[in-house]
Amino acid sequence: MKNLDFEHLIRNLKTSKAPLVIFGIRKFGTLAYHALTNVGVKVDYFCDDSDEARNKKNIFNIPIISSNELQKLDPDFNIFIAAWVIATILPQLQRMKIKNIHDCVNLYKNTDFNNINTGMTSHDVRRRVDIYKAECAALQTSDESSFNLKYVDITITEACSLKCESCSNLMQYYVKPKNSDLNLLFKSIDKLMEITNSLYEFRVLGGEPFINKQIGQIINKLLTYKTIKEIVIYTNATIIPKGENFECLKNDKIFVEITDYKELSRKRDELIELLKANNIRYTSIIPVWSDSGTLKYQNATEEQLADKFKSCCMIDKTTILNGKLYRCPFSANAHNLNAIPHNASDVVNLDDDNKTIAELKKEVTLLHGNKKYLEACKHCNGRDHLTPKIEVAIQAKKILEIPKYK
Ligand code: SF4
Ligand code: SF4
Repeated sequence: MKNLDFEHLIRNLKTSKAPLVIFGIRKFGTLAYHALTNVGVKVDYFCDDSDEARNKKNIFNIPIISSNELQKLDPDFNIFIAAWVIATILPQLQRMKIKNIHDCVNLYKNTDFNNINTGMTSHDVRRRVDIYKAECAALQTSDESSFNLKYVDITITEACSLKCESCSNLMQYYVKPKNSDLNLLFKSIDKLMEITNSLYEFRVLGGEPFINKQIGQIINKLLTYKTIKEIVIYTNATIIPKGENFECLKNDKIFVEITDYKELSRKRDELIELLKANNIRYTSIIPVWSDSGTLKYQNATEEQLADKFKSCCMIDKTTILNGKLYRCPFSANAHNLNAIPHNASDVVNLDDDNKTIAELKKEVTLLHGNKKYLEACKHCNGRDHLTPKIEVAIQAKKILEIPKYK
């Protein structure tokens, strides 16, 4: 993959007669488009094989083509990989013998996105650029024994102050929710970090993470990992943290993401004032929900399950819950609730002292590399742009009953 210095790259692109293609129509693709057009480079095509791309046909009035159609272009065309699954796309393009494959590192690095209306917040842009750079760096250093992750969801409690009937973390099914055991949680994080070569971000969540009164200790523990770039705490703004649980937020690596459920987020204004007064970075987002929080056997074919998994927005994450590692929060909580058949290959027990670190690493690598889909995908509606949208945060009147599984 080419990573020419910026001026050299732009000169080449401006003088090339062959088309320029951006692979990826989502946010990374949007950033690449703005970075290129900002310096006067014309983008001829977007390329993407997703259903979304097939439905859309063009973006910014630029046609979207499939990877098969790349073969019809002038073979000197330039293509930028602008998607988070670089490790999957790069070999696909290399197999097609495409000559001019570029990453977007220098493109992103040399663009001041603050002066461009990308439709994203500056924090979102920075985070994506950092993740992209980390992914490229990991690719360059990667070998068989290297294990790299972008995000780890640390679930610190099964409890929530709200009971959304379509919570995608399945809080609506917990009869006796409990907080994570601190020692077990620390041990799981230590073990995971021992086998991980690079990791960009910890995401602290629940339920509502501020319900766990040990959150300060947990965040301080996460802050001891110097290589982590960000620690994001997801809250519904119903609880104001106090003492150590607030003090730990006063760190440049901490970012508080408030999900704004309007009147349900009853402490939102107070929390925002406090965060502002203490220079703690935050954002407040009014969410859009898809129907991704219902436990129901879907009776899907193998092909449908593989498609669902491949297009799911959760597959670049991993989740720690009660000493175990899972591929997504739905799988984590569905297993934890015994709501689906236990699939041993979907779970890594980080608390198993009989396993060596090398054995654990092998299991974790298999969980992240070899999966066509998860057992949980059979019972989940999916999480992509095609999943039907639903009203946000409707409150359940009582704990929902777990359906009998097949
Ligand atoms: S979606 Fe609702 S129930 Fe689920 S964690 Fe968020 S606030 Fe709690
Ligand atoms: S589709 Fe599969 S991977 Fe995606 S959230 Fe559902 S269970 Fe998890």
